[in-house]
Amino acid sequence: MALSRNLLDILACPKCVREPGCTGELEYDEEKQQLICRHCKLIYFVKDDIPVMLIEEAMPLKE
Ligand SMILES: [Zn+2]
Repeated sequence: MALSRNLLDILACPKCVREPGCTGELEYDEEKQQLICRHCKLIYFVKDDIPVMLIEEAMPLKE
């Protein structure tokens, strides 16, 4: 099962959402079950269809 569009719309990067002028918009990688923040370059994991929106649990994005 994938995350619903509605859920994705309300999810935001907990780090970036505090920054002025930043929405904390996340990109969903359905295949890897990850949510990617392009602003602060962090990857949030999705465990059992539940997004883990914790900065401590996030992984740095390598490009
Ligand atoms: Zn972020």
